Order: sequence, then structure tokens, then C-alpha cells
Amino acid sequence: MKLLLSATSLVHAAHCRNVLRAAGIRAELRNTWLAGATGEIPFRESAPQVWLVDDEMEAQAWAVLNAAANPAPGPSWQCRHCLEWHEAQFGACWRCGAARD
Ligand SMILES: [Zn+2]
Repeated sequence: MKLLLSATSLVHAAHCRNVLRAAGIRAELRNTWLAGATGEIPFRESAPQVWLVDDEMEAQAWAVLNAAANPAPGPSWQCRHCLEWHEAQFGACWRCGAARD
């Protein structure tokens, strides 16, 4: 497990976790209930956090989050192997791992 980021809100943390999961990256939320303790314990320790299950996925996780924050214009595409649909910014299939054509 590796801490990926601390978010300013639970909504933002949950969004990041959902984006990662949609890309096939295992991630979990922590500190989902500590916001009420802000001011009593340091923000970095009370803020909602997104953790990676696999430490070695950090670079890929940031690539996915950056792509989601800055979506590339263009049409969705369909994987020729498993027929899963993907947004334009993704270069590989999250389901089967095949590279985009
Ligand atoms: Zn596929």
C-alpha cells in the first residue's frame, strides 16, 4: 500500500479513486470520517486519502489522473480484442491491456 494523494474533500478523493478503478488500478480511500477532527490533528493526517494497493502503479496512476483532469479531445474508441469502449485519452484497454490501434 502506498499513499497517492491527500484530497481537500471526500468527494474529490472518491472521484480520484473511481477514476483509478475504472482504469483497472486498485485504490482505496482512507480517512473518510476524520474531517470533523480537522484543527485538532494536522490536516495531512485528517484529510481524505487515496491509497494504491500496488506501490509500483504510482506512475500509471498519476498518468490516469492527469489524463482524466485534462481529457484529450476526440472520439471514444473500442478495443479490437475485447470490444470495451474507452475515452479518447486512454492509450490502452483497461480490461485486457491491448494497446490502442
Ligand atoms: Zn480490451
